[in-house]
Amino acid sequence: MPPVQHHIPEDIVQAYVSGRLPHAFAVVVAAHLSLCDACRATAEAQEALAGAALDALPSDAAPDADLRARTLAALDSVEALPREAMPIPAPAGIYPSAVMAELGGRPPRWKSLGAGIRQTILTAGPEGSVRLLYIPGGKAVPDHGHNGLEMTMVLQGAFQDITGKYARGDVQVGDPDLEHTPIAMEGEACICLAATDAPLRFNALVPRLLQRVFRI
Ligand SMILES: [Zn+2]
Repeated sequence: MPPVQHHIPEDIVQAYVSGRLPHAFAVVVAAHLSLCDACRATAEAQEALAGAALDALPSDAAPDADLRARTLAALDSVEALPREAMPIPAPAGIYPSAVMAELGGRPPRWKSLGAGIRQTILTAGPEGSVRLLYIPGGKAVPDHGHNGLEMTMVLQGAFQDITGKYARGDVQVGDPDLEHTPIAMEGEACICLAATDAPLRFNALVPRLLQRVFRI
């Protein structure tokens, strides 16, 4: 497998490590970490940093001028921390264990979106949703609006849009400004893991056309 090209932004890894990331996005980060040595190293370093900062904090006083020095000293010892500090289960098949957990260990139950495109919603709640998308080779992902953050990770095959090419392990982080029409590469179907923090409007093509015509 070629190395991962598109990674999780460091602030999102940090939010994941500190447990502040909504579940839908945490699933994508966990899946990426299981396939990416670089981001896993970032996560482990940030976890060690958080631990060192806590250890360095005086329990009965505000942080003193010495804190920075002691935190930096603790950082120097990060290399010595055991690798087991953050256990990352090995990927099983194309679905990383974080995805298998969402699937309850069962194969995805795909629902058709038309044109051969299918989806399986893993979890959906007010904080966000995460789903699997199946796009046959050469097909475009249905046009969809996203109101907030969107993270898409490729599990099988590849897709391409104006921002580049994404293959297994690669993550695309989109926001409402991102105008894109991802197209699956010819050949093997593209299976993606996609998290959003607002309900996605994966409308069928016809209703969307009607929306444009009637401006509803
Ligand atoms: Zn990475």
